[in-house]
Amino acid sequence: MDREPTILASDIGGTRIKIGVVRGKRLLARAEIDARRHEGLAAALERISQVGKKLCLNNDLTWRSLTGFGLSFPGIIEPKTGKILSTPAGKFDDARHLNVPKMTEALLGLPTRICNDANAALAAEWCFGAARGQRSAVMMTLGTGIGSAAIIDGVPLRGQHGQAGCLGGHFTVSLSGQECLCGNIGCAESEASTWALPAKARAHPAFASSKLARENVLDFAIVFRAAARGDRVATELRHHAIRVWAVALVNLIHAYDPECAVIGGGVMKSCSVILPQLRRYAAKHAWTPWGKVKIKSAALGNDAGMFGVASLFSEP
Ligand SMILES: [Zn+2]
Repeated sequence: MDREPTILASDIGGTRIKIGVVRGKRLLARAEIDARRHEGLAAALERISQVGKKLCLNNDLTWRSLTGFGLSFPGIIEPKTGKILSTPAGKFDDARHLNVPKMTEALLGLPTRICNDANAALAAEWCFGAARGQRSAVMMTLGTGIGSAAIIDGVPLRGQHGQAGCLGGHFTVSLSGQECLCGNIGCAESEASTWALPAKARAHPAFASSKLARENVLDFAIVFRAAARGDRVATELRHHAIRVWAVALVNLIHAYDPECAVIGGGVMKSCSVILPQLRRYAAKHAWTPWGKVKIKSAALGNDAGMFGVASLFSEP
């Protein structure tokens, strides 16, 4: 008899929504759909419900075998109510006015747990990935925005409104920085995330002479590639971004006293360049008189969010 609960899980991202059936560290079935974020969250939940039901049917999984529905969402989630308090700018704008647990209960007939995406990613890394076996760990996800999460003494940090631990992207790293989407000035996210990158690049005095000026879309993969070929503007942007991530990481270490820090997100496709520099900076500048924080790359890849929300059903 399998004691691990079987969970319908979904991870909502900026462009794609992942849907899966998870049992422990096994993904029994999986699908992916477009986020169509401008249609709003209510429409997305309807589609998740339809795809989830089809997924079970096509994989010989009975609906009755499901214990619950876990949802990972890129925003601040109030832990007690599952209410979404913030959404990514211009995406899923209706979410703050919805009672998501009630809606999904009606759509799916399953108890729902909803969780911030970085919290979900860390929960998965802690159960099955890079932070396994650690008592205290932090995570930083580098992508469209910068997410963070913390587990202290084996307990996921949430706070009164779900903000504790997940605002590492909005730690101040520059006194003279730009105003961030969150309202603060000089956040790690407004200095070095994918949404902030194009404006940062265009503001460089030599941008017009850079190869980057010929790109239609600017992301860190393109910047890192151009930097590796010796483009001066790209090299400076890369240097600035890694410095920002390193400073944010030291802030997370100082705030939460982890044994282990896990770095994830799409930008970590360039982890061979990023990770050694983060390690060097933290070894030099983090105040950890007891020893060194282990700084690791996320191990679980794209489906971590689904494993993370499924693991919430195993929490006491
Ligand atoms: Zn901010």
